[in-house]
Amino acid sequence: MSSSVTVQPDPSPVARNPIFDELDFPADPDNLYLQTVATMLDAANRINLKHRVQVILAQPKNEIMVHFPVRIDDGHYQLFKGYRVQHNNALGPYKGGIRYHENVHLDDVKSLALLMTMKCSLVRVPYGGGKGGVKCNPRAISEGELQRVTRRFCSAIMNMIGPELDIPAPDVGSNAQIMAWFADTYMMSNESKDANSGLRVVTGKPVEFGGSLGREKATGQGVVDTLVELLPEVGLKVQGMRVSVLGFGNVGSWAARILHDMGAKIIAVADHTGAIRDDMGINAHALTEYCIEHGGLKGYRGDAISNDEFYQTPVDVLIPAALEQMITDREAKLIDAKVIAEGANAPTTPAGDRVLTERGIEVIPAILANAGGVTVSYFEWVQNKTSTQWDIQQVDRELNRHMVMAARRTVLARQQHKVDLRTAAYIAALDHIGKAYNVRGIFP
Ligand code: NAD
Repeated sequence: MSSSVTVQPDPSPVARNPIFDELDFPADPDNLYLQTVATMLDAANRINLKHRVQVILAQPKNEIMVHFPVRIDDGHYQLFKGYRVQHNNALGPYKGGIRYHENVHLDDVKSLALLMTMKCSLVRVPYGGGKGGVKCNPRAISEGELQRVTRRFCSAIMNMIGPELDIPAPDVGSNAQIMAWFADTYMMSNESKDANSGLRVVTGKPVEFGGSLGREKATGQGVVDTLVELLPEVGLKVQGMRVSVLGFGNVGSWAARILHDMGAKIIAVADHTGAIRDDMGINAHALTEYCIEHGGLKGYRGDAISNDEFYQTPVDVLIPAALEQMITDREAKLIDAKVIAEGANAPTTPAGDRVLTERGIEVIPAILANAGGVTVSYFEWVQNKTSTQWDIQQVDRELNRHMVMAARRTVLARQQHKVDLRTAAYIAALDHIGKAYNVRGIFP
């Protein structure tokens, strides 16, 4: 007879909320949407946000799913799937990026849309939250195919978005060129209306075509602005600070380049091709050029290390700037950092968060740390609307003001409610949305 050992399962890190039952949510604790809503509702309960507002925020207003055919270079047609989720517009038009990735999934897009609602509220830009995605691998298709996918996706959702209704932007796998094709398609299709207002149907455009100076680096700059504001709280200073970066695309490479120029040392970097470490400091500018040329950091000088070794590298600050749910309880146990500044959206799972808290590692949450992108997107939209062009000093100054104020709002909420920074950031965001609902009421 074999003896069996009973292993006690880890208690679910996702607190079950009565609203989950009311809205018939699935019980999967690994589901990103469930995790995101649970965090939001926990903060909402702490400020006694009205139940009706909690229910509204627990589901997006609209979930749009489209399928559209695109001609592939070899002549055949392929059907693509696209999403646009419009989470909430109590504070202004829906706003959020469009992701091009082979694993894009409705629940992930819903989570990212909810995060956008929180982020816009926290930095006080007059937008709601939205997010989109196209299920494709942009690295595996030609430029012509990418352009046709973009134009067809734009035309598929065109009647449900607009410069005063829902304003997309770049995200993982999309960029300024894709935004230019998107805006051009929208403008050409709406020529009989006000063609020029169509320009601001998307932000993150190239500077030659209505883009804002400073938009490309904005999210990385916002990560740095937030860090600089909060570092004294944890007794660190930028000069000589040791930093590791997970994901070296737009957000990761810009944060690294700006920190490098301010005197910090980039010790370790990881991306989808591998990880490297150099205790003398990695030149973030040279690494960026290398990644653009080679499609990733693999082969760059420095010691190639494993993923586990990357997390174990002793640093002051770790900046996750890749995808969601990368820091689980497993990675959280390996991390040797004092602070985590979330450049990526939802990089830490609730189980990971719990371990980081137990270990005394401070987490600057995504809705604060990476809000610089949407902030400068708002500046771009304002410039388009007023036919003006701000200089880079004005963009940087206004961005810094928004980031510093959002960081202070978060710290204040932490002091008032005795919570961690993540809960505090949600509280500061939800408090603002709750006030808007109080004065607006609920239609009719
Ligand atoms: P990007 O496509 O420019 O870069 C993504 C990076 O992640 C790449 O370096 C890629 O190699 C790396 N990566 C992918 N899979 C990985 C894996 N399994 N392991 C390690 N690295 C991996 O994307 P981005 O625009 O820099 O966005 C990164 C994150 O920041 C996303 O969560 C995005 O939603 C968020 N974000 C972006 C912006 C923006 O303005 N671009 C704004 C706010 C938040």
